[in-house]
Amino acid sequence: MSHWLIAGASRGIGLELARQLALRGERVSASVRSENGRAALQEALEPLGDRGQILIFDTRDDAQIREAAAEVSEPIDALVANAGAYGPQRQSALDMDFDGVLDLVNVNTLGPLRVAQAFLPLIKQAERPRIAMISSVLGSMALEGTFNVGYRISKAGLNKIVQCLADDLKPEGIPVISMHPGWVRTDMGGPNAPVSAEDSAAGIIGVIERLTLADTRRFVDYKGAEIDW
Ligand code: NDP
Repeated sequence: MSHWLIAGASRGIGLELARQLALRGERVSASVRSENGRAALQEALEPLGDRGQILIFDTRDDAQIREAAAEVSEPIDALVANAGAYGPQRQSALDMDFDGVLDLVNVNTLGPLRVAQAFLPLIKQAERPRIAMISSVLGSMALEGTFNVGYRISKAGLNKIVQCLADDLKPEGIPVISMHPGWVRTDMGGPNAPVSAEDSAAGIIGVIERLTLADTRRFVDYKGAEIDW
């Protein structure tokens, strides 16, 4: 049994990750950002009894994240920094809601790092610790197209953070990777996305379970296939 921390588990891929891990009997700590988001997660964690823990934090709020980290006492084997948003309507290079995109960068780029930093002491206590940041292929510098520049830069920035964190934590034996979950049928991905949340979550769990230090600093999809940075 491993202890997983899922950040952003009120719905979508994060909720499905929590549900599948709970069904397997893993220990799961998972976060929502308000009491309103609690109900579905509570149901997903039901099979775990007191081995499931719900934390409340917004990934833009460092103090709230640190308070939540103080509530966790067991070493964390795997962190999945999943919480993310798509951002404002106007986010092209020709017409941008700058304040909206700044907020998006706060959530998508800095949020996962805030979570990783706050929980790092618990991650370091694990025997085989791992960190996966949920990014997007849209953050790849190699990908063409100009739609949703704000989202792209937020995930490109997250990818750079993953590279730096991976280098910083390699001496400590902690692999850090960036993951694209697929184009997934969630509120964010929409109803036409080809991948179900179930398949995406199962793939993500498999990739993280197989992760060793040899894989650190990689950018992979939910099937483990390499993506060009
Ligand atoms: P959803 O929109 O379905 O869910 C997003 C989750 O993130 C919710 O739990 C939401 O909480 C949480 N969240 C958003 N902002 C914050 C915040 N500031 N603080 C804490 N939690 C927050 O998205 P998906 O499940 O589809 O996406 C999960 C991850 O996968 C994201 O990082 C996304 O960018 C990435 N991704 C998704 C793709 C897709 O096709 N779906 C494709 C590529 C990447 P709340 O309910 O409170 O809003």
